[in-house]
Amino acid sequence: VHQRPRQIHIYFSDTGGGHRASALSLEAALKKLYGNQVSVTLVDFIRHAMPWPLSQAPETYQTLGHFPSVYKRAWDYDQDSETWCDTTSYKMMWSYCRESVLNYLEQAALELDLIISVHPLIHHVVIEALEELARGSGSQPPASRQDLCLPVVTVVTDLGSAHLSWFDPRADMLFVPSQEIYQAAIKRGVPRRKIHLCGLPLREGFWCADPVSPDQKRQLQAQLGLRPTERPEVVLLMGGGEGFGRLLDVACAIGDTLIGLGYGQLVVVCGRNEEVRKALVERRWTPRGFGEWLFEPLILGFVTNVDQYMTAADCLVTKAGPGSIAESMIKGLPCLLTAFVPGQEEGNISYVTDNGAGAYVSDQDPHLVAAKIEEWLKDPPTLERMSENARRLAQPDAALEISRRMCDSLLDLGVELEEVRSGSFGTTWRNQLL
Ligand code: UDP
Repeated sequence: VHQRPRQIHIYFSDTGGGHRASALSLEAALKKLYGNQVSVTLVDFIRHAMPWPLSQAPETYQTLGHFPSVYKRAWDYDQDSETWCDTTSYKMMWSYCRESVLNYLEQAALELDLIISVHPLIHHVVIEALEELARGSGSQPPASRQDLCLPVVTVVTDLGSAHLSWFDPRADMLFVPSQEIYQAAIKRGVPRRKIHLCGLPLREGFWCADPVSPDQKRQLQAQLGLRPTERPEVVLLMGGGEGFGRLLDVACAIGDTLIGLGYGQLVVVCGRNEEVRKALVERRWTPRGFGEWLFEPLILGFVTNVDQYMTAADCLVTKAGPGSIAESMIKGLPCLLTAFVPGQEEGNISYVTDNGAGAYVSDQDPHLVAAKIEEWLKDPPTLERMSENARRLAQPDAALEISRRMCDSLLDLGVELEEVRSGSFGTTWRNQLL
């Protein structure tokens, strides 16, 4: 019988916003399910356990975001290899960070019960280091990683396509968000019994997929500073956490189109892109409308209640980020995708379009993006159909389900809630959240 809380480390890195978001959602789910039976610590592993310049990966990622063709070459570079461990990139990385990772884990491993990696460049080096620690100094009899009784779990945070480095057959469990990634994992040699298809773990505001009533939606619109409306007309524009893509040009094109249309509302979430937020706040919209109707866009910086804006909106215009897409599926929000990180986010486009939950129009021509939005707003039945298709892809229980499965099989922690055992998992959370 364990007296102390089980110590769980979640390893992520701030290369983009998605890894931290998934780590936070798993932390919230673990605490919701197990309370003080678990103690969860989030670590930017690349920053804290790897040497310079690897530790600068978050900054490098931001810079690479401005050079898509370079990023694409780096992404494609090793994709033909059998496994990530066979690649020169991995071998160089491991030899360079080995000592530092061993030092970090030597201390941590003694106290830990479970390691969760939500980043593709972390689990291999963690497993490699734990195997080396298990083997000991050489004077000991040979041991295996399992002797350390410290399981390592990977949770994939990409959606429609995943880099080779996500897959390490040695990990104890692998959680994937979609059929596409499930198949990719099998192709890369991960045993089927280790793969679990549960969805992308999202924060608590997305743990409920029940649609709100039209009245509730109007109430929420008023609360957020929008005009309550009967018809679909609220366009939400986002560019991920950093406000990437041609946000300014697309916002202007959509705004001008809505003014010409004579109705419609626009919410722009600029994330951490202050420059675009300021430019939009200062923009004079001429004309601002006709007669009684005036165009009043809502221009926001980084918001923490994206779930509310998605509930209040009728469609989403965004770059193809896995987090934003999975969130909008839960809210039944048709997606117009306008940009993608080459390689990494390409599969997210077909994930949305093949499932009839949206479309792709490149932001290279913002007027085409705006024209597509006009077409959608004039055609409520099509919007409704895409919304239903989006809901079919929703996986609101992902964070809770992943947490439950890993704790159940690796830490022998059963959840005491009756509804979990009877299979109606998630309903209590839904009721609480409504
Ligand atoms: N996001 C947020 N507030 C903002 C802008 C974005 O919470 O002001 C969230 C968004 O809801 C999503 C994440 O940031 O969960 C962005 O993840 P995504 O995978 O779409 O793109 P990334 O930023 O990782 O490239």
